Amino acid sequence: MTEVTSENRYYREWFLVQTLEGQPQVELRRRVPPERFEMIADDVCLVAPVRFRVRFSGVPQRVRVRGWVRTQVQLQCDRCLVHYDQTIDVRFDSIYLPLSEAPTDSRRLTQPEDAITTFFEQERIDVWVMIHEQILLQVPFKRLCRADCRGICPTCGANRNVETCVCTEELIDPRWEPLARLRRLLSR
Ligand SMILES: [Zn+2]
Ligand SMILES: [Zn+2]
Repeated sequence: MTEVTSENRYYREWFLVQTLEGQPQVELRRRVPPERFEMIADDVCLVAPVRFRVRFSGVPQRVRVRGWVRTQVQLQCDRCLVHYDQTIDVRFDSIYLPLSEAPTDSRRLTQPEDAITTFFEQERIDVWVMIHEQILLQVPFKRLCRADCRGICPTCGANRNVETCVCTEELIDPRWEPLARLRRLLSR
């Protein structure tokens, strides 16, 4: 049903699409420890096992994949640079087609209606790639430890979430207000 490499340090698994010729659906459930799940993103660090359930259905020429992924990642806040954990909990529903069905001009589809269409090669679907993508899709572009993170003081480097530095107090002088506004802008 699936190929799993055991000699590799990292979890890798492929779903063989011809498995669907004999049965209407196939389910995979996995719990991969964070150190065995390779993340190709230096700034996204797994801090909990990657748990997922995936159901393959349809025919080998058009495989529907429905499932969920849960884990926890550690990110760095863009404003205060502190590391914080974020829960990943996502459901997904995709269609996988053989690569031979892909438009010849480009393998990257830009039409919104094709957004959930993915292609597979050699009659197998790479499960690790699928789960890896789902995790990265949940990582926000703007990373904030909290919505109202006050960031770092550009003058003294103090984390404004945990301390009020002298620089902030000086800036209460109304003559400095334009400069304070500029600093707030720069620290975003
Ligand atoms: Zn922050
Ligand atoms: Zn300061």
